[in-house]
Amino acid sequence: MTNKQTSKQERYRQFKENYAAELPEKLARIDQSWRDIFEPSADVEKRLYEFRRLIHSLAGSAGSFGFSQLGKQALRLEKRLDQLVLDTLPDSESKKLINENLQQIQQLAEQGPEFSETTELDAIEPHPELQGEHKHLVYIVEDDELFCQQVADQIEQYGYEVNTFTTIKAAEAAIEKKIPSAMVIDVEFPEGTLAGPRLAKQYQPLRNRNIPLIFMSVGDDWQSRLAAVQAGGSAYITKPFDFIMLVDRLDNLLEIKQQRPYRILIVDDVTILAEHYANVLQAEGMITHIVTDPAKLLIELQEFKPELILMDIYMPGVSGIDAARVIRQTDAYLNVPIVYLSTESGLDQQLEALRLGGDDFLQKPIHDEHLAAAIKIRVGRFRNLSTLMIRDGLTGLLNHITLKLELEGAIAQSIRNKSPLSFAMLDIDHFKEVNDKYGHPVGDLVIKSLARLLQQRLRSSDVVARYGGEEFSIILPDTDPAVAKKVLEQLRQDFANTKHSCDLNEFTVSFSAGIASVPEHNDLQALINAADEALYEAKHAGRNCIAMDTT
Ligand code: GH3
Ligand code: MG
Ligand code: MG
Repeated sequence: MTNKQTSKQERYRQFKENYAAELPEKLARIDQSWRDIFEPSADVEKRLYEFRRLIHSLAGSAGSFGFSQLGKQALRLEKRLDQLVLDTLPDSESKKLINENLQQIQQLAEQGPEFSETTELDAIEPHPELQGEHKHLVYIVEDDELFCQQVADQIEQYGYEVNTFTTIKAAEAAIEKKIPSAMVIDVEFPEGTLAGPRLAKQYQPLRNRNIPLIFMSVGDDWQSRLAAVQAGGSAYITKPFDFIMLVDRLDNLLEIKQQRPYRILIVDDVTILAEHYANVLQAEGMITHIVTDPAKLLIELQEFKPELILMDIYMPGVSGIDAARVIRQTDAYLNVPIVYLSTESGLDQQLEALRLGGDDFLQKPIHDEHLAAAIKIRVGRFRNLSTLMIRDGLTGLLNHITLKLELEGAIAQSIRNKSPLSFAMLDIDHFKEVNDKYGHPVGDLVIKSLARLLQQRLRSSDVVARYGGEEFSIILPDTDPAVAKKVLEQLRQDFANTKHSCDLNEFTVSFSAGIASVPEHNDLQALINAADEALYEAKHAGRNCIAMDTT
């Protein structure tokens, strides 16, 4: 481990310690603020508001620094305060309940910090050789300095570049200088209970450019949520939260923005019409390709890889319905939506078209806007479905089937270019024990953390997949066995050093891996078997190590 990593880990520990050390003083201030309210001639409204602000801040930070019970208690108190009329002294019943809340908070503080249930990936610096992606810039605006820094540190670990701002003013200055890729903004600030959304709302460019805004708040009330939506917020998360969830949100939001244009294949023998449709769809940002000769359809499909086929029903020589039948005979196109375009208005004909595997029926003449909208909705749905089909739900990595397709392509390319290719199979060691000891959900978090590590650290040309339960595989194009071993070895060490936690326990987990390469094996199944056998060797050699294929 490098010094930088150690110092970052050290910083976490320091955060928690600092928080625990400062807690008694914080509580004393809260206590004082509570008593101030009942001073004769006090400005009750102002003091109640101040008291509420202190409780709010406590509720927001405590859970993230090892005092989750205390945080919950503070949140309960905040909710109670929100039910009061803040400009009059609380009645004796409310006073009694609030005193009880405060006492419990005090007791929980004296018990000291708990361990958090979330898996914390310890600081892992991406290997400079391994990391090729440019980083997204994220602004975090949060007035609680410690919490702000902790959020930043966590997000940074996942490959984001982060700037932190603890005041609205500083954030304003930064936004004016440079618009970030995304922002994470607290809702409440000393400037006001909705100062966070107000900040975002005031900058039109944030909305014009569709910058993802994630609001975080202790409060789950209607007003805060509404303000977040009105400010163009894309997500709203309540504190305390699991950092991995925040990173997931960021990942998703930023990926959605980078959507590839839709690919539409137009099959129509009348060229002028086909070109008109193409123009309409292109104007909406889609990529189109026209086939006027149905006999060329299969070849064109393979090359263009459409996400939707717009098909004329009446063509010379072949009907669109028969063409669809042919398309559906090919496994790869079993699910591509086919939309028929025709003047045919007879219901029978339409039903026949749908029954034979066409998905929809649009009637000519069709309004341009209607055509574009109808197509967009259908491709969007298809994309969502394919994401589910090609990606694993837990990790977002490619699944087993897709991996094989990718590997097949990669082997062919490697042979064609006479370049090496390495393939690694990984399996988490003694994973059953992790489940048995800490429970299945914690096991899931461990799987996710390895998935993230692999995704974050490998080059974008590498393909990472979840091969099965706790098995992963990696395709490394243009990589000979020696380099592959170096890369895997580094990953192995980093993962083995990653601390996971559950309740009162911290634990580490390791993986074993086997590596095989092209040109030693030139066939899909042979390559997979060789890597698998090497993995078996690694397990036999005692686990937590990498074995090379020697066959
Ligand atoms: P070895 O070092 O030999 O690989 O030991 P192991 O315990 O990891 O291997 P084994 O194949 O016996 O057990 C794998 C366990 O992984 C069993 C299964 O319940 C668990 N598992 C598989 N998929 C998931 C998952 O998605 N989530 C969780 N939490 N556990 C899973
Ligand atoms: Mg296994
Ligand atoms: Mg295993």
